[in-house]
Amino acid sequence: AKAQGKNAYQLFTPQMNEAVTRRLNLEAGLRRALDRGEFLVHYQPRLSFVNMRTVGMEALVRWRREPGMLVPPMEFIPLAEETGLIVPLGEFVLETACARTAAINAAMGLSLKVSVNLSARQFSDTNLPELVDRVLGATGLPPACLEVEVTETVLMQNIATAANMLAQLAEMGVSASIDDFGTGYSSLYYLKKMPLAAIKIDRSFIRDIPRDPSDLAITTTIISMCRGLDLAVVAEGVETQEQFNFLLGLRCDECQGYLVSRPLPAPDFEAFLRQSGNA
Ligand code: C2E
Ligand code: CA
Ligand code: CA
Ligand code: CA
Repeated sequence: AKAQGKNAYQLFTPQMNEAVTRRLNLEAGLRRALDRGEFLVHYQPRLSFVNMRTVGMEALVRWRREPGMLVPPMEFIPLAEETGLIVPLGEFVLETACARTAAINAAMGLSLKVSVNLSARQFSDTNLPELVDRVLGATGLPPACLEVEVTETVLMQNIATAANMLAQLAEMGVSASIDDFGTGYSSLYYLKKMPLAAIKIDRSFIRDIPRDPSDLAITTTIISMCRGLDLAVVAEGVETQEQFNFLLGLRCDECQGYLVSRPLPAPDFEAFLRQSGNA
């Protein structure tokens, strides 16, 4: 690159310098954030199409970097994954979600199931079953009230390791679902081979139903295929009554999306449960 003289010099522009600085700031901020307790967990309800009740919720991490400033996960999860910070952060989310769910279930006489997202690094960590076991023990949450969400991409990275991990979790009574189904390298092989409880249809397929014929075909096919495989189907990103009615007609199992509720801080989620007649 040096031989190119002027060009090589231009490789490092002021804009890039700025980008590097921003990234370093973000990384340093991320490291401090855990100690300072800046991470929180929001909860988005999962509604059963069968009885129209809340049957569980997805735990979604947020970073309150400054008061009144919530950083969305897409802006820090990839960096946390790259730097390895995802391991302590993931532990925090798991602990927080399990503790809160145990408390809500006890207070309201419910048995809601909480689902926690696992990134590639967390899912390939051989200590994961041990961690899950410890957290369940410490919080008193029954294993049946915990589900992990992994993407197809993560499952396919190492099929043997993934199958082994899911088998260990299943052995403990913890279920697993496939997140963003249809957006990765979809293989029917793992649907048959791996111990899975549910698949979550990615919201990109839900967005344009019932108008878009291909999204319609894909959604209909996924639902009928999963019925045959005894897998529950969760529709993600349901925003309209029309989408809801359509999915109900297709006998989809569960609904998650802004139509029911946005992800909420724990106290608001509890208020939602009371208002919607769940408790
Ligand atoms: P995801 O697992 O696919 O989570 C669903 C995302 O869709 C959430 O975004 C949620 O707020 C959003 N969403 C829900 N309903 C609707 C809707 O009706 N319309 C639209 N437009 N969006 C909807 P969020 O919370 O920003 O999370 C983004 C991603 O960050 C998640 O996607 C997940 O991949 C990752 N993530 C979040 N929390 C964690 C975590 O604790 N650990 C890990 N490893 N990843 C996480
Ligand atoms: Ca998810
Ligand atoms: Ca998803
Ligand atoms: Ca996603």
